[in-house]
Amino acid sequence: MSYITEIQIISKTMDASTLLYAQSQPEKTILIVDDLADNLRILTNALSGQGFQIRCAKSGTFALMAIQTFNPDLILLDIKMPDMDGYEVCRRLKAMAKTRDIPVIFLSALEDALDKVKAFSVGAVDYITKPFQVEEVLIRVRHQLELQAAKAEIQRANAELERRVERRTAQLAATNERLALANQKLAIEIQERQRAEARASASEERLNDILNSLEDVVWSYDPKLNKILYVNLAVERMYGYSIAQFLDNPNLRLERTHPADRARVEAAHHNLLITGSLREEYRILRSDGEVYWVSDRAHAVYTADGHILRIDGITRDITEQMLALEQLVHDTLHDALTGLPNRTLFMDRVGQALKHTKRNSNYLFAVFFIDLDRFKMVNDSLGHSMGDRLLQTVAKLLEACLRSQDTVARLGGDEFTILLDDISEISQATIVAERILNRLTTPLEVNGQLLFTSASIGIVIGNRDYQTAEELLRDADIAMYRSKSLGRGRWTVFDKQMYEQNLTIIQLDNDLRYALERQELELYYQPIIALETRKLAGFEALIRWHHPERGLVSPAEFIPLAEDTGLILTIGNWVLYTACQQLRIWQQKFPEATGLKMSLNISSRQIQEINFLQSLDNVLAETGIDSHSLNLEITESTLMDQGAETLSKLKQLRARHIQLSIDDFGQGYSSLSYLHRFPVNTLKIDRSFVDQMTIDEEKFAIIRTITTLAHTLDMDVVAEGVENEQQVTILTQLGCEFAQGYYFAKPITASDAEKMILQ
Ligand code: C2E
Ligand code: MG
Ligand code: MG
Repeated sequence: MSYITEIQIISKTMDASTLLYAQSQPEKTILIVDDLADNLRILTNALSGQGFQIRCAKSGTFALMAIQTFNPDLILLDIKMPDMDGYEVCRRLKAMAKTRDIPVIFLSALEDALDKVKAFSVGAVDYITKPFQVEEVLIRVRHQLELQAAKAEIQRANAELERRVERRTAQLAATNERLALANQKLAIEIQERQRAEARASASEERLNDILNSLEDVVWSYDPKLNKILYVNLAVERMYGYSIAQFLDNPNLRLERTHPADRARVEAAHHNLLITGSLREEYRILRSDGEVYWVSDRAHAVYTADGHILRIDGITRDITEQMLALEQLVHDTLHDALTGLPNRTLFMDRVGQALKHTKRNSNYLFAVFFIDLDRFKMVNDSLGHSMGDRLLQTVAKLLEACLRSQDTVARLGGDEFTILLDDISEISQATIVAERILNRLTTPLEVNGQLLFTSASIGIVIGNRDYQTAEELLRDADIAMYRSKSLGRGRWTVFDKQMYEQNLTIIQLDNDLRYALERQELELYYQPIIALETRKLAGFEALIRWHHPERGLVSPAEFIPLAEDTGLILTIGNWVLYTACQQLRIWQQKFPEATGLKMSLNISSRQIQEINFLQSLDNVLAETGIDSHSLNLEITESTLMDQGAETLSKLKQLRARHIQLSIDDFGQGYSSLSYLHRFPVNTLKIDRSFVDQMTIDEEKFAIIRTITTLAHTLDMDVVAEGVENEQQVTILTQLGCEFAQGYYFAKPITASDAEKMILQ
């Protein structure tokens, strides 16, 4: 460049120290500013010889311009220069940021101290006085450069330090921040955990409260350690032992199990270890000795690898339910009134006995069917509570007649059954039956009143032919009916024939149901003769059944059957209507028949009917006969069996002027004392007395007594079954008003009866 006079002299002769310096220092550039060419050359020579790169400027202005293009490491600046002095140059250099730090060494001939001060004040670092020694310049330059280098080094070091400090500070700050964050998180975690702990302990407390308020025992058990892990307060209430006692003795629960149930419970616990669950109901003995029923439920809790970790369970007090259940079972198997076993239990026991017979041919047992005679009378006349008391008394009496292994049951109503278990021979059964009947003959004291009762007993002996308990009971029932029909108050042992007869009866009953609509029934009429005049006084209507296969069936055979089945109501109504209509026809046809009476047999079942009087009125109204001409015959037993209601009905008959006779009188109870209580018009002496009266004096005496009594009570007497003149004579002498029998006529058809009226 033209404005810079460059004198670049590269030193050819370098001494050892220069070489050393140049080697240790990177090449430094020095700007020399001087208006004197000689100075420039000398300095350039000297310095370049030391390994510096030299730039020269002949004036201050040039120097300032040159400085724009490069950066010298040091400036040697002359003070006295024509256009701009060194101070000014220095001032300007110091004013520019780019050059401010370049060390400036003044070169001047002025040796004035003031100049030096001025030089330093404008920013010089050193001052060399002209004429200078090259060595001095070199030393000062080197010194300054070293200073500069040291300064730069310090600055660099400082900067490095600062950077490090900064970096470190930043690291620290980051660490701090992380730390603070971690702290914060930790604090939150701690807080969270504290809350969780508080929650856990609160919920544990709550859980404990809940568990302890339970009525059920909740327990947890470690079978490996044989240790009770937990048990709640309920255990104290249930067993009467403290929790501590249970924790101390893990076997306490088993020890307090009822001895009868212990083996079963132990087995269940053993099973629990295999199946993992337990459900058992058993009894426990409380500390006070009381027996409680508990229901135990437990299940095993397993580890991940399938081993039993522990067993959790709940034990509940079910005493009340079990007692209720026991009561229920008892109630369903027992009769509420007498406390005796009922039909269900009885049949079960008979079934067991039957099974026993099949296994063991030597085993013998008997079943009794017992029906109280005339129990209904007690119920109706003395009231139901009295009837109930009588049943209770009979139940006790029956029990007293038996051994402990026998069973007496009440089937209902007045029906009792007995199972005589394991008897040695059949006679043993009949002896018991005899004993029962004997005891019943002594009047029973019920509610301070003496009651006479008797029973009809049917006995069946168990054998291998029977398949079910029902069959046995059925046959005992058949035998009982036989006892009843044989006159009550007796026992009958069932036999095969009875069963066949019973089958016949069932067949007969079946046929009888169709007899009316098939018009197989017919009324016969037996004349009743007034003994004094020997004239026809009336007829007794007697029913006949023309069975399609069996021919004529006696009423003695089918009337009791119809009474049993209730069919007598339909038949009775038919008889009533037919007989009344027949009488009406005769009365209309024959004027001499107006005084004739029609006698009808009425069963007790008919009188018991609520609308008995109503249907009677209907028939009277429909047929239009006079109620005076109707005579109803009832048996003694009908009178005896009925209560107050029957009496009132009979009184209403009397109010209608309907006649009432007691049929077969003397055959039944012959209890003459009650007769006056009933509105009876006529006594019909039973055929058996009339039959024997001529050969049996006693019978004769009875007829006489009855006749006398009847007359005293203002009643007429009809003799039944009169078969000869001798009887007629005696009966007439005794003052008997009427007679009926084969001697006069057998029961005859309506048309035959008509002929008789005409005679
Ligand atoms: P009962 O009312 O005592 O009738 C008299 C029975 O004696 C009749 O038997 C009659 O034929 C029979 N008899 C009459 N005189 C003599 C005689 O001199 N010698 C003999 N050995 N027997 C004589 P029957 O007709 O077989 O009736 C039997 C029983 O059946 C009746 O006895 C009566 O209790 C009942 N009965 C008959 N018809 C009816 C009816 O329409 N309704 C009801 N409820 N029972 C009836
Ligand atoms: Mg009769
Ligand atoms: Mg009779």
